[in-house]
Amino acid sequence: MGFLLNCIECGKQYEPAASGYLCGCGGLLDIYIDIDQAKTQVSLEKFDERAKNSSPGRSSGVWRYKELIVPDFDDDAIVSIHEGNTRLYDVPQLAKSLGLDALQIKHEGENPSGSFKDRGMTVAVSRACQQGAKIIACASTGNTSASMALYAARCGIKALVLVPEGKVSKGKLAQTIAYGAITIEIEGDFDDCMKMIMDGAQSGMIYPMNSVNPFRPAGQKTIIWELLQQKNWNPPDWIVFPAGNLGNYSAFGLAIQEFYDIGLLKKKPRLAGVQAAGANPFYKSYCSQFENRYTVQAETLATAIRIGNPVNYPRAVRALKWTDGVVTEVDDQEIMDAKAQVERGGIGAEPSSCAAVAGLRRLLKENIIKSDDNVVVIFTGHMLKDSESTLSYHTGKIPGIDSRYAGKLYKLKPTISHLGKFIENELEKN
Ligand SMILES: *Cc1c(COP(=O)(O)O)cnc(C)c1O
Ligand SMILES: [Zn+2]
Repeated sequence: MGFLLNCIECGKQYEPAASGYLCGCGGLLDIYIDIDQAKTQVSLEKFDERAKNSSPGRSSGVWRYKELIVPDFDDDAIVSIHEGNTRLYDVPQLAKSLGLDALQIKHEGENPSGSFKDRGMTVAVSRACQQGAKIIACASTGNTSASMALYAARCGIKALVLVPEGKVSKGKLAQTIAYGAITIEIEGDFDDCMKMIMDGAQSGMIYPMNSVNPFRPAGQKTIIWELLQQKNWNPPDWIVFPAGNLGNYSAFGLAIQEFYDIGLLKKKPRLAGVQAAGANPFYKSYCSQFENRYTVQAETLATAIRIGNPVNYPRAVRALKWTDGVVTEVDDQEIMDAKAQVERGGIGAEPSSCAAVAGLRRLLKENIIKSDDNVVVIFTGHMLKDSESTLSYHTGKIPGIDSRYAGKLYKLKPTISHLGKFIENELEKN
């Protein structure tokens, strides 16, 4: 049996062993899911049964949906570290401040390496190990590399990482190095690193682990299925999330369309991808009704979405059409303000994730999303991934950014009388 890869441009099907990461026509590939076969293999009841099972092979929030990720994949080849099973939070104060009746946040920063990247990486690394890859490689703004390094360490495969010099947060770089990946800073931006990976993959020198690798989006589909499951299979009206290399936009579209085709979903949620204004190629293409595919020189504080030439563009356009999706953009001031406001409500995330909240605010203002719509925001990365930007904001040290919602940091002499006076002053403030 096994499975097939499918070209999204010309529809050609491949035996996986015989193919690289692109079709001969240049098109991106999907793992082919046979809808009729899936209808006989999976059901909502089956997924619910598995979610109750905490045994090692079933504790993953990814592999619970195995038949719809890589059909017939060998269980013994799975490299898993309990990824997924991230929580869904009610955030009533934030909902109120946005003018929404209700809002939920699914926090993918709760994955083992601190970002959603683990969902695709468990699948892609499992496959690479099964194929006996000698060295796996990725370009990264930090989270892909941290995740790849973690899974590579788990199965003892060599990992090589290209990162843009000076543009990766310390936390992410530290993780990548500590988990043992060979880490190379490139004098260029993410798009330069990505091009090197694509060229290396084309020549067979590198086994690419970026989301062009169809096993990555295949795993990321489970963010949506797990979300639906947590909502007792009642779909939200909107799913709002940051959009950089467009892996999630692509994967979310596939997840929704496949579930719909199998008959597991009655109504499709709409996707809303949020870009940083300084890294907005997909937004520009969207505004041209996809007449043009834009690339930009990317610059934003939200480094995880600092991408000017997203490789998943064709997959994401397809996903947008399937889900009647939208794209919006927000500037760095809006992103950092949204981050500060969200965190004052007791839920934190890295800047790119908070861009989604800023984008939601904009879509509400434009009346694209309505106040009584059922909305879920996907937080993609953990708050501690980028503490530099958080501290810089709260201490007013980001050039060009007005720290409107800054918290406070004081200095005091080391005596109890200084502290006593300080507390007295604080209490008088209200
Ligand atoms: C990778 C990443 C993104 C961008 O996701 P894409 O699927 O490439 O659009 C957003 N936020 C965080 C925290 C990420 O790590
Ligand atoms: Zn093709």
